[in-house]
Amino acid sequence: MRILISGAAGFLGSHLSDRLISEGHQIIGLDNFITGNRANIAHRMGDENFSFYRHDVSNYIFVPGNVDAVLHFASPASPNPKSPSGYFNLPIQTMKAGALGTHNTLGVAKTNNARYLLASTSEIYGDPEIHPQSESYPGNVDPAGPRAVYDEAKRFAEALTLAYHRHHNVDTRIVRIFNTYGPRMDLEDGRALPNLLKQALLGQPLTVYGDGQQTRSFCYVDDLVDGIVRLLYSDEHMPVNIGNPVEMTILQFAETINRVTGNQAGVTFMAGERSARDPQRRRPDITRAQTILKWEPKVDFEEGLRRTIPYFKEKLGLA
Ligand code: NAD
Ligand code: UDP
Repeated sequence: MRILISGAAGFLGSHLSDRLISEGHQIIGLDNFITGNRANIAHRMGDENFSFYRHDVSNYIFVPGNVDAVLHFASPASPNPKSPSGYFNLPIQTMKAGALGTHNTLGVAKTNNARYLLASTSEIYGDPEIHPQSESYPGNVDPAGPRAVYDEAKRFAEALTLAYHRHHNVDTRIVRIFNTYGPRMDLEDGRALPNLLKQALLGQPLTVYGDGQQTRSFCYVDDLVDGIVRLLYSDEHMPVNIGNPVEMTILQFAETINRVTGNQAGVTFMAGERSARDPQRRRPDITRAQTILKWEPKVDFEEGLRRTIPYFKEKLGLA
């Protein structure tokens, strides 16, 4: 297939490009580098199966030639209020990527009669009142809350994607991605894994926000990409959760990072640092992915950390 990927210079978009090229597809990458990094795609330059256009998906997209699939991954994604690349500091761009970017990429799919896959997020569940979160849960999101720029843009994007499917018969898919980590994450984007792994490798205490009793479940990037590719090849139109169902508290997460890296500096609790509406618990119910896609994650957290550490060491000049 000839596949258009928006956000191709980002963490997930670049891994998806690599995986799909390895399966014999051709990739056309779009990115405006607002949160992505040229280094993520540098190894693809000169590759006849990868072409790249610097473009903002909030604007009309023209792609020469036929396209068989469109994957919309362009959006700021970090919830850290202090990070310049987090969506708190890119509120309008985030809403435009989710709304106008989804509209434009759906337009490319419709014109080309191509299949379409939207990168949605566990954030559409907001601060969930049920646990674990299954796809039937409609979510607990405040449209006037601080995370709304991201959450509501993604909720709009899902609704628009299904409108194109139901009204225009576009062959769409929606993946709800839960916390994912691995090489090529932005070390400075303020998310829990880059912050804490960087601190551990530098021998510093790990910054645990609040009391560290909030939970997350972390999926290694290769597992996530495998789930997304299975969804792309499937005929499933309703949203599918992809994430690792092994839940841990952020304190357990920090202690594991310290153990695997051999960091002796412990943790520092930072009571005031949790952002407003930081979800207290999050874990995917992956029954649908298991049943429909025959998918489940294979890489446990310690193994995923070991695979991620060399990239962090290189970026920190420790390799
Ligand atoms: P990322 O910031 O590394 O990648 C996003 C890419 O999109 C960047 O390269 C950025 O420059 C590009 N981009 C943003 N706005 C754009 C625009 N208007 N036009 C063109 N390019 C634009 O983030 P990521 O972690 O790779 O996330 C990719 C997608 O997956 C996002 O849609 C995000 O919401 C979703 N997601 C990620 C996670 C996660 O854990 N990483 C979890 C849930 C959902
Ligand atoms: N967190 C933390 N220390 C940090 C960064 C994040 O304790 O240095 C916490 C954050 O408050 C949240 C969890 O880790 O409860 C996961 O945060 P992340 O930014 O990775 O993304 P989220 O899951 O909130 O989208």
